[in-house]
Amino acid sequence: MKTLQPEDYLPRPAIIKEIITENSQIKTFVLSFANPEQNTDFSYQPGQFMMVSIPHCGEAPISFSSTPARKEMIRLSVRKAGKLTSALHELQAGAIIGLRGPYGKPFPMDYLAKRDLLFVAGGIGLAPLCSVINSCLFNPDYHGRISILYGSRTPEDIAFMGEINFWRQNPDVKCLLTVDQGTSDWHGATGVVTTLFSQTEINPEQQTAIICGPPMMIKAVISELNEMGFGDDDIITTMERHMKCGVGVCRHCHMDGKLVCVDGPVFSLRQLKELDVMEIK
Ligand SMILES: Cc1cc2nc3c(=O)[nH]c(=O)nc-3n(C[C@H](O)[C@H](O)[C@H](O)COP(=O)(O)OP(=O)(O)OC[C@H]3O[C@@H](n4cnc5c(N)ncnc54)[C@H](O)[C@@H]3O)c2cc1C
Repeated sequence: MKTLQPEDYLPRPAIIKEIITENSQIKTFVLSFANPEQNTDFSYQPGQFMMVSIPHCGEAPISFSSTPARKEMIRLSVRKAGKLTSALHELQAGAIIGLRGPYGKPFPMDYLAKRDLLFVAGGIGLAPLCSVINSCLFNPDYHGRISILYGSRTPEDIAFMGEINFWRQNPDVKCLLTVDQGTSDWHGATGVVTTLFSQTEINPEQQTAIICGPPMMIKAVISELNEMGFGDDDIITTMERHMKCGVGVCRHCHMDGKLVCVDGPVFSLRQLKELDVMEIK
């Protein structure tokens, strides 16, 4: 592990340039560093996260939903969960927040670039996958096919419609949505996200599956993918644990000998099977 420098712990001021309301619980914050030089020097990879802070409200890890490939500003999509995220949701464009990072191991983008990809997401779990999906779509060397299966609780809970509409214009992308509970004006699929497997092309020889969502969903999806013949290296997911430092010092995000902040948050099923974690038990 690299020797930590003081700047690894110091939040840098960042300006909220734009706020996109994805649904009643999720907002996407478009950000740039207040010091323009820091924007030029900054780089990150899909799957990594930033520690986001507001003075007196705390700090929390949030994954990039933007892609470095699109040369856009940093996008962080945040679900209102507790003190920090509720305070973030109260802010307006122009407000300053603290950012430190990027931290964590990213998705194996070089490997994914050679594969067809099956993304399975629930709720806010689509946020880090937006970064991977758009990185592939903006990579001229990526020629695979992309399937995206996205589950939400109700039609009003469907987030990232801007991205979904963008993906649906691409003939190499198939994006299917489902909701747990429909409404009278919902004409799409109803049921848990795994019910969408029957409507999409499954080819474990060619495909790698990338899953992100609540623990129960991850467990159910992994179980079905295993039954369909996906190998342990071709099932990749992200783990969430409460985190304090983000840099492997406090060990708050300990997971059976591994630290989510530095060994993850991205793990293959092969790596998870060596650990005692509830998501795959
Ligand atoms: C690597 C990583 C990436 C993430 N990316 C995103 C993202 O892109 N978008 C997003 O919205 N969220 C993301 N999260 C989740 C986010 O960091 C948490 O929801 C965070 O706790 C919110 O902070 P908060 O202060 O608002 O809420 P908290 O005050 O932390 O409360 C959130 C919930 O956790 C409970 N809680 C608080 N402390 C503990 C504890 N020590 N042990 C158990 N439960 C506790 C609270 O009761 C409450 O229900 C990510 C988490 C990780 C680890």
